[in-house]
Formats: sequence, structure tokens, C-alpha cells
Amino acid sequence: MVGMTRDFSVPQARNLVTALPGPRSIALQERRVASVSRGAGTLANIYMERGSGAILVDVDGNQLIDLGCGIGVTTIGHAHPDVAAAAAEQAAKLTHTLFTVTPYENYVRVAEKLAEVTPGDFEKRSILVNSGAEAVENAVKIARKYTGRRAIASLDHAFHGRTNLTMAMTYRPWPERSGMGPFPGEIYSLPISYPFRDPEGMTGEEAAERTIDYINTHIGATELAALFVEPIQGDGGVIIPAPGYYKRLSEFCAQNGIVFVSDEIQAGFARTGTWYAIEHHGVVPDLVTSAKGIAGGFPLAAVTGRAEIMDAVQPGGIGGTFGGNPVSTAAALAVFDVIEREGLLAEAQRVEKALWARIGDWAERFPVVGDVRGKGAMFGVELVHPGTKKQNPEALRAVLLHATSNGVIPLDAGSWDSVLRIMPSVVISEELIDDAASVIEEALATLG
Ligand SMILES: *Cc1c(COP(=O)(O)O)cnc(C)c1O
Repeated sequence: MVGMTRDFSVPQARNLVTALPGPRSIALQERRVASVSRGAGTLANIYMERGSGAILVDVDGNQLIDLGCGIGVTTIGHAHPDVAAAAAEQAAKLTHTLFTVTPYENYVRVAEKLAEVTPGDFEKRSILVNSGAEAVENAVKIARKYTGRRAIASLDHAFHGRTNLTMAMTYRPWPERSGMGPFPGEIYSLPISYPFRDPEGMTGEEAAERTIDYINTHIGATELAALFVEPIQGDGGVIIPAPGYYKRLSEFCAQNGIVFVSDEIQAGFARTGTWYAIEHHGVVPDLVTSAKGIAGGFPLAAVTGRAEIMDAVQPGGIGGTFGGNPVSTAAALAVFDVIEREGLLAEAQRVEKALWARIGDWAERFPVVGDVRGKGAMFGVELVHPGTKKQNPEALRAVLLHATSNGVIPLDAGSWDSVLRIMPSVVISEELIDDAASVIEEALATLG
């Protein structure tokens, strides 16, 4: 087990030495309000100084349990020494040439590794960029160029980013899109399979027919360039479509010349116990996007997929100044290595078992919990008004306030802000899961 092989620079335990936020955090918050746009909202105004494994240490010396990984980024744990060393070594050698001016090996090696770990045993190509949204934007450009079609579809409750194009592919109006339009045209949102909220007994295949019917009646299959899906929706509320749903949709896409894109920015890269989460659905996508967990916190993202699709773009048609920069790619190569050497796919499966064992009965024990769902180290707890399925955002706010005030940092999610999202590092111990769950249970017990 990882906890035994890795030396953590911070003890893996929650330890509070002040009230939260502490005095230094409060002082920093005053400066921040006077200097940082309020548009960059924060979940908890606790300022962090260091981290190791699944523990964050704040500026007042409190040790907090990280159940969010900065939205699924530090999957391998905070500040892995190999990643830090790889980045530092590269930073001292070469930080920039721009790959499209004069290239370097790290970029090629990351593309080679991506070809190896992404689903499908066909010839592949990659492009490296800086952020998830930029990867999605590039996937849109590539799919349009390849198909000669313009329409793009994503699913209800999707999150694909905050740039103008990806905002249009993102489902919920508030706060991501409100007042930010106009948005680009030819973007469609399709009904998804949402087992907790679909009619009782609806199968994945039936939900797929509903989605396909929407394509046929609102877009036209021959007009659609690409369908973007999250194999497990993250910001949408950790929604896992029913078995068979994506399989049927991917067959429909193949039959109709539509590029099937798995946006793996949140669920991919070892988080759910496989390299890519679409593997759980038995689907081989045409293109995948990677970002968040790929480089241990350094900015890097990628589009990877079938060579004939990726190479449809003319030289110079995609790229960017910082994309795949030498330091981020060095960090990513270290992350690939750590996942393989420390067996982190198996660790994510261990975390899944531990979470089911510890929180799997919350819907039976707490009336405010409607549903617990998850895969690997990616879980959602949907909060409802007791006795109904009506979304309960007030309860989520209360749970988050109690958790963050007591040194546990989970995430919010869901189109109604009513899903508690739990996405720890895959190296989190059973003891930390137990301790964090106990804190959350204190809040759930008062709610209903
Ligand atoms: C976070 C996220 C994005 C956007 O990534 P950024 O790096 O924030 O631009 C896109 N798709 C999914 C599924 C994500 O979770």
C-alpha cells in the first residue's frame, strides 16, 4: 500500500491549532478582497501553505483533510517529491522554446505516453495545451475540420469550461454563464441518463434512444460534428449514466460519422481506478481530452485521438505559446511514472471500496441524503428534502460550512448546488476517510 512506501512530509492526520479560518487567513482575506476580483469566488477562505499526500497545511499551521484535490488535480497526492524534482530540474535547464518554433523531447514523450494509456489500439496523435477549456476548444476545432460539419452537442449538466465556446457547452446558467453572452451558435444540449432522477427502471439503452431522438429532431445526425460527454460528470454532480448508455451513443456516432469525444479532464487519469473513465462503459472514444490530474498541478492539457482525425488539421491550425511547455511536460512524465510505479490505479480502487464501506449507507441513515454514487476516488452525495427527491442546496451549504470549519475540504457540485462531491487523492488512508466522514456525518445528523 502506498502509505507504507511513500514518505509524507506532513503527518497524515487532521490537526487543528486555531479556529478556522485562523488569524493569518483572516488577515490575508482582507487583503484579497481589496485586490482580487470577487468573480474568482472561493469555497472556504482558508489560505494554504503546503501539502503532502491527502493533507493540506494552512498559514496558521492547521492540518486539513483534502477531499477535493483542487477539483481532481492532485490525484497522486500533494507535492510528490518526484514531480517536484522533475519540474525543478527542468526549470534549471530550459523553460521555453515554443514547441511550434523549435521542439523538444518532453512534449513528444508525453504524446507517446498518452497514445499508450488512452483507450483504443489504433494509431493516435496528441496536441498539448494549457487548460481543460483550451483542450475542449481544440477538440471542437479538430472535429469540425475533420467532419466539415458545424454542430456540436454536449449533455445536460455538462461542464466543459469557462471560455466563451466552452461556456456555451456548459449546462448551468448560474454562476458560470450569467450575463456573459452572446455565446457561439450551433451548440446543443442533449438529455442525459441520470439514474437517480430518470423514470424508475429506465435502462441505459432507453435513455440513449431519448438522446438520439433529440439529435434527430433538433439537430440532424448528418449536421453533427461531435458529441462531447463526460464519462462521469464532475461539476454536474458526479452523475454516472446507466450501463449501456454511452455504448449505444458511441455506436450511433460511429454509424453517422459523428466524432465521439470523451472529456476526461476530471474523471480521467487514474481517478476512477482506470486510466480513463470511459473504460468503465466499454467504449473506445475517437478523441479524449485530459487535463486536471495530468501533471500534479502544473498547467497542462491534451487532446488525444485517432490519427486521421487529429491530422485533419493543417499545420499551424492548432497550437499556442505555452502549450506543452518543458516544465509542465517534465512534471507530467513524473506523474505517469508515479502512477505506474506506485500502483495508483489499484489505489483508486482501494479508495472506492473504503468509501462504499464507510459512506455507502448514508442514504439509509440520513433522510437528507437521496443518493450516494461513485467510482474510484470520485463520489457524489446528493442532498434532498427528506422524503422527496427535491434538491436541497441549503443542506449542502450547511454541510460545507461545518466540514470546512472543522478541517475537512470537500467540494460542491450539481446543477442545483445540492451534491456533495468527494474527490480525495488516491493515496488517502482509511483512517483519514473515516475521520472526514465522521465530521460530515455530524452535519448530516442535524439536517433532517
Ligand atoms: C475542469 C473541467 C474542464 C475545464 O478545465 P479548465 O482547466 O478549468 O479550463 C473541462 N471539462 C471538464 C470535465 C472539467 O472538469
